[in-house]
Amino acid sequence: MNYYSLLQKSPRVNFKEALFQGQAPDGGLYFPDHIPLLNKNWLGAIKNLEKEEIALEVMKPYVGKCIPEDELYRICEETCSFSFPLVNLNDRISCLELFHGPTMAFKDVGARFMSRCLSWFVQHENREVTVLVATSGDTGAAVANGFSGLKGVNVVVLYPSGKVSRFQELQMTSGHSSVTALEVSGTFDDCQRMVKEAFADTELKKRRFLTSANSINVARWLPQQIYYFLAYKDWPFEKPPVFSVPSGNFGNICSGLVAHASGLPVQHFIAACNRNKVFPDFMESGVYTPAQSVPTISSAMDVGDPSNFKRVLELFHHNHAGMTELISSYSVTDHRTAEVIWDVHHKYGYLMDPHGAVAFECLQTYLDLHPGEKGIFMETAHPAKFGEIMESTTGVPIAMPSEMRAVMKGVKQSTPILPGYNDLRNFLWNKD
Ligand SMILES: *Cc1c(COP(=O)(O)O)cnc(C)c1O
Repeated sequence: MNYYSLLQKSPRVNFKEALFQGQAPDGGLYFPDHIPLLNKNWLGAIKNLEKEEIALEVMKPYVGKCIPEDELYRICEETCSFSFPLVNLNDRISCLELFHGPTMAFKDVGARFMSRCLSWFVQHENREVTVLVATSGDTGAAVANGFSGLKGVNVVVLYPSGKVSRFQELQMTSGHSSVTALEVSGTFDDCQRMVKEAFADTELKKRRFLTSANSINVARWLPQQIYYFLAYKDWPFEKPPVFSVPSGNFGNICSGLVAHASGLPVQHFIAACNRNKVFPDFMESGVYTPAQSVPTISSAMDVGDPSNFKRVLELFHHNHAGMTELISSYSVTDHRTAEVIWDVHHKYGYLMDPHGAVAFECLQTYLDLHPGEKGIFMETAHPAKFGEIMESTTGVPIAMPSEMRAVMKGVKQSTPILPGYNDLRNFLWNKD
């Protein structure tokens, strides 16, 4: 498998180079040069397969010959070494819990897969790599956890000061000697822009080997397909599910769309958004207008210019009508999100986090319009991760799991920086 740049001005590269470069030299996102078709018999027998066998089959074509199959199998095993339960809420709605990994949000899968691939490559050649990542909270935690202590790999995380939960902040700022946390006095969009500027800085890139661990990196983006296959494995009905995906940078849903393109039966996709609704607006009007992000209680989805939007366009060959046929998109207010958390807790005894709740609400909206269908919403974080917000908005008290209590005892170590590129550049330039 080779990857081309969506801007078409850089050479094609294999998986390894796409992973190391993160973003193509022309500033474009890498995209697989074809979507492999999965064997129908294999899909038909998926119920009898183990998680790591499924992950291996899905990821093998994308990695190609860059990693030997037995190594890739081990990487897949480590990537999926926790559970992905599909929980029924009622006879039409199930929840896919994606928060059973070490940092209690769904980004662990992508981060674990990428870190282990990177580690395998670094072992076999003497490259020192700096992994540079912008986060609204969960990516930083997953990357700090997944990449910490890898030989030859330094991690630099940028996060918006005051806009992540205390737990998320401690997950990335305490206890990792090879991780530097830069606390930016700005928004997530500022962090994302600063990281993009660093990748476009050829002089800096000569001095420092930079790669990204955001979902722009194919090694973090593509393994997310695995969730959709695991959900399908446990799906008990004949008719394929509708998937409702809480969306921010659109990495998760875009990987689901890739899974579908390679043969996974899916009835429909829902891109569930909070008040940051450039995508729902685009679906309605056909015009894409990036916006400043606004803060919400589902903060990991506060993105005003989703970086994977261009990949979604590419998958559909920029055909808006094709997109609206397969995808619906809605926006949910904080007020409604809090209401839904309370309702679902009251009705089903199930506590959703704000991100999952946005997806639940959008799924319910869609199912009301399509009485013959059933669906799955993705619960992308453990509700306790957003305990402060959960308690203040819903009044539902939430117990803190013991892993969380240990993290909360940590000591924050971060370096404050301004939201312009200069400070970041100086930091990266002078870093030893
Ligand atoms: C990152 C994140 C999202 C958004 O995922 P994208 O792939 O960026 O669309 C949703 N929920 C949670 C909890 C997250 O951490």
